[in-house]
Amino acid sequence: MEFHSGFIAILGRPNAGKSTLVNKLVGHKVAIVSPRPQTTRNRIQGILNREDAQIVLIDTPGIHRAGTALDRQMMQEVSQAVDGVDIVSLIVDATEDFQAADRHAIEWVKRFSGPAYLLLNKIDRTRKDRLLPLIDRWQAAYDFEEIFPVSALTGEGTAELVGSWIRRLPEHPAYFPADQYTDQPERFLAAEIIREKAILLTRDELPYAVAVLVDDFEEGEKLLKIRATFYVEREGQKGILIGRGGSMMKEIGTAARKELEKLLGVKIFLELFVKVQANWRGNRAMVKQLDWRWQLEKMSEE
Ligand code: GDP
Ligand code: MG
Repeated sequence: MEFHSGFIAILGRPNAGKSTLVNKLVGHKVAIVSPRPQTTRNRIQGILNREDAQIVLIDTPGIHRAGTALDRQMMQEVSQAVDGVDIVSLIVDATEDFQAADRHAIEWVKRFSGPAYLLLNKIDRTRKDRLLPLIDRWQAAYDFEEIFPVSALTGEGTAELVGSWIRRLPEHPAYFPADQYTDQPERFLAAEIIREKAILLTRDELPYAVAVLVDDFEEGEKLLKIRATFYVEREGQKGILIGRGGSMMKEIGTAARKELEKLLGVKIFLELFVKVQANWRGNRAMVKQLDWRWQLEKMSEE
C-alpha cells in the first residue's frame, strides 16, 4: 500500500480555530483552546496517524502584529512553522467577513511557495448562503490551491480535507512512531493545561499576563508529582489567580489535575505557586524560558 507522510502548517488569525482543528484531527488534546485570542504561544506538532498516512500538523500562534518580546517570539514561531512544510493551510472564521487583518494573514501564506489551502471554519455556525460569496472574496484576495468549508468543532468537512491533504503529500515513510501524537514533552503539556484552566476560570486581562513554568515533574511508581509556578505581572493579578481564601487556585488546580490524569493516565499530585514578575512579556530571558525547545536544549547541556 502507498504510504504518504508530511508536514502541514496551520496558520490563521487569533481565534480562527487552529488548535481546535489540530486536536480534532489528532484525536487527542495536544493544544489548549480558549475563547480568548492568543492562547497558543508556541508552535506545536500534533500527529495524525492512519494506515495509509501520517500527517504532522503544526499548530501555530495567531497571526497578529508584534508589540512585546512575547509577540515577536510568537511570530517567530509562525515563521519557523512555515519553514520546510509540504502544505500551508490558512484557517479563517467563516462567521466573519473578510477584513483588513485577513490581508495581513495572506502575506504569511505568500511567503510559502508550495500548495496553500484555505479552510473556512465554524460552518456549524455559518449561514450556508454566506459561504459562496465569502469564497469569492477570499479567492479574489489570493489564489488558493484548494478551499474547504469545515467545522473544527463537529468535524464536518474534515474527512474530505484530510483526503485531499494526503493525496498531495509525498510518498514517504512515517516520520514518527505510529503511537506518538505530539512532539511536546509531557511537562510542557502539563504547563499548558494548567495555563488553559487559569484562562478559562478567570477573567479580564489575566490570560495575556499569565505564564506557567513547571519546576518539578517527578514520576513515581504510582504518582506523578508536578510543581508549577504561575508568573503574573502585577499583585492584583496574583490576587485574582489565588482568589478568596485560595478558592480560585484550588479550582484551577483541581480542573488541571483531573484533565492531566485523564490525558497521562496516572494519578497526579499537583502543587501550584504564584509569583509576580513585572513586565515579563517584555523580558526576553523570561519569554525564552517559556519555549520548551529552548528548555530542552538547556537541559541537555547541563
Ligand atoms: P485558535 O486561536 O485559532 O487556536 O482558536 P481556538 O482553537 O483556540 O478556538 C477559538 C474559539 O473558537 C474557541 O472558543 C473554540 O471553541 C471556537 N471554535 C473553534 N472551531 C470552531 C468551530 O468549528 N465551530 C465553532 N462553533 N466554534 C469553534
Ligand atoms: Mg491556538
